[in-house]
Amino acid sequence: MLLRRMAAALISAVAFAGVLVAGSAPASAAPRVLYYDTSQAQEFAAAWTQGAQIWNSRATNVRLQPVTAGRTPNIRIYADNGWPRAQTTSLGNGRVWMGREAITDGYYPPRITAHELGHILGLPDRRTGLCADLMSGSSAAVSCTNSYPNARELAQVEANFRSSAVATVTPRTYVWQPALG
Ligand SMILES: [Zn+2]
Repeated sequence: MLLRRMAAALISAVAFAGVLVAGSAPASAAPRVLYYDTSQAQEFAAAWTQGAQIWNSRATNVRLQPVTAGRTPNIRIYADNGWPRAQTTSLGNGRVWMGREAITDGYYPPRITAHELGHILGLPDRRTGLCADLMSGSSAAVSCTNSYPNARELAQVEANFRSSAVATVTPRTYVWQPALG
């Protein structure tokens, strides 16, 4: 009888654990898809695709995909002769530019595109000067080729795009420009 009670207690404990596991599964929720448009990216379309793939290879709560016909892109991509920059309108939405000024200076294009997309994903600039930081941007050496977010930057993006998240960003413009002097 005691044995039977213990077995019953064990079964209900397992069932309870099963409910807990099923109830805490936001990791399996579908990622939020953001569409980007490289049709005006000029010679840098491949670099932007690479930047998107870098985020896709790390983040699970958000996915960057090329825009399909008839759909409004979340991220519009341009190129000009100025500095690379990002203009955020809301989390996951905005415009980004590749600027030839940074290419002329020798900055690594995939690091620039992944960085600017990082702004769209809700990350601010952190001018630490460290190459290991993606959001250190132009404060790291021109020779820095690290194009991947560090663990903290990735965790922030994952948190921003959790299905239950209410993260918001203030519309603003971030510019990839080395400190003068
Ligand atoms: Zn920046």
